[in-house]
Amino acid sequence: MKITFIGLGIMGKPMAKNLIKAGYELCVFDLNQAAVQEVVACGATAASTAAEAAGDAEIVFTMLPNSPHVRSVMLGEGGVAAAMRRGATFVDMSSINPVASREIAAELDKLGIEMLDAPVSGGEPKAIDGTLSFMVGGKRDVFERCEPILKHMGASVVRCGEIGAGNVTKLCNQIVVAVNIAALSEALMLGQMAGVEPEKIFDAIRGGLAGSTVMNAKAPMLMDQNFKPGFRIDLHIKDLNNVLDAAKSVDAPIPLTSQVMEMMKVLRHDGDGACDHSALMKYYQKLTGETLHH
Ligand code: NAD
Repeated sequence: MKITFIGLGIMGKPMAKNLIKAGYELCVFDLNQAAVQEVVACGATAASTAAEAAGDAEIVFTMLPNSPHVRSVMLGEGGVAAAMRRGATFVDMSSINPVASREIAAELDKLGIEMLDAPVSGGEPKAIDGTLSFMVGGKRDVFERCEPILKHMGASVVRCGEIGAGNVTKLCNQIVVAVNIAALSEALMLGQMAGVEPEKIFDAIRGGLAGSTVMNAKAPMLMDQNFKPGFRIDLHIKDLNNVLDAAKSVDAPIPLTSQVMEMMKVLRHDGDGACDHSALMKYYQKLTGETLHH
């Protein structure tokens, strides 16, 4: 099966490599030529434009930063949609605004192209291992056709509803992750200031009700002062902006998200936007003048 893959960043590159390993014929495109060459070295072919990459593909995947990128790659001048075959499927794995997913799907529908929104959770390590969690929106039959392919990149593939439902679910995921990292940072800083080693706190509580995947992944990074991304603060601000938009559209209350968003904006203002979201700890370090240690 011929697959087109556009967007070979932190996530897209290992995901594309897993599709090549699974035996699919991949044509790839990214603005970053170094990333393209790395995937070509694994067996993909390179196209000189996104539209050229899409020519005879049955499925086009994108893994791009945000809604405007997906919209312009698909529907902009020289975009992919116009070059795709009727009956082909577009699967957008980027985390974007669910309203944009629905709008793009409506435009593609006019061209006879089906769409799924299929954002992921799990970050770079799970992208490399092929164990991401997919949250998918779209028609059931389109989902069933694409599910076996997604399973080469993910351990969990769940259809959450119609188009847009994948990105709504991803926004829920991003609220839980952001608020968790903030709570973990607040707790470990309090513990250290009150005289208990952060490592002891982590060891003591990780197996109890407070324990979580977020805690296991991020507590060691906080104690090591390791803020290398991973998932950048800038991208999490992008997701929380999409949460704010979605919440406004349905009048949902999001006081916790709004608070963590303000903390992330302070960090970005101070030049930490390219740090991992574990840098929320830096917010507490700035407030207290203390550095978290082991
Ligand atoms: P990234 O910035 O590393 O990669 C984005 C890639 O898109 C880059 O290689 C860039 O060159 C390419 N690109 C941008 N505009 C393009 C265009 N017009 N044409 C072709 N290529 C273009 O981002 P990432 O970390 O891989 O994240 C991708 C998406 O996945 C985002 O929506 C992000 O929120 C989501 N996500 C990221 C993580 C993570 O841990 N990094 C985890 C889950 C979901």
